[in-house]
Amino acid sequence: MHELPKLPYSFDALEPFIDAQTMEIHYSKHHQAYVNNLNAALEKHPEFKEKSLEELLANTASLPEDIRQAVINNAGGHYNHTFFWHTLGKDGAKEPSNELKDAINDIFGNFETFKQQFTEAATKRFGSGWAWLTIDKDGKLEVWSSANQDAPIMQGKRPILGLDVWEHAYYLKYQNRRPEYIEAFWNVVNWDEVNRHFLRKEI
Ligand code: MN
Repeated sequence: MHELPKLPYSFDALEPFIDAQTMEIHYSKHHQAYVNNLNAALEKHPEFKEKSLEELLANTASLPEDIRQAVINNAGGHYNHTFFWHTLGKDGAKEPSNELKDAINDIFGNFETFKQQFTEAATKRFGSGWAWLTIDKDGKLEVWSSANQDAPIMQGKRPILGLDVWEHAYYLKYQNRRPEYIEAFWNVVNWDEVNRHFLRKEI
């Protein structure tokens, strides 16, 4: 059985940038629902119960057709949110490590251009989805966005930084002002964790 992981901080830890009520509902209702729905889907094919989220998502073509979309949505939702919570926080490093900075500069020219491209990907995602900084198997960084709960690992890419732009992530505090939420996000990135993801070598 998949389980909701412990949130690494209190619901109000990211105030005022991400408010406590949004955090509580996002984590204890939305994330919990992805976990519950994933477990429910896997009940129909117990041979997949022991597989990790990464195994399920890296090979969605091998999933039984009657649960494929449910696993994409809910294993993806579980994976993406678990990743997201850990890359947020106010106590970690305030900027990328030198290694990550160098990699960002190589691809984007400078940090500001990277930040603009990530912000644009998050702003322009129509409807629900995520903005990502990912690394592929050749070590190449890329900014893009995915729809719904589609996880980067479905494309053979590993997330370094991600931002949930579903309305449930920001509507209570920011209503329709997604750009304000995106701007606020940069204040609560835990770069220690982002740096750690960058240095992991395996996909
Ligand atoms: Mn969400």
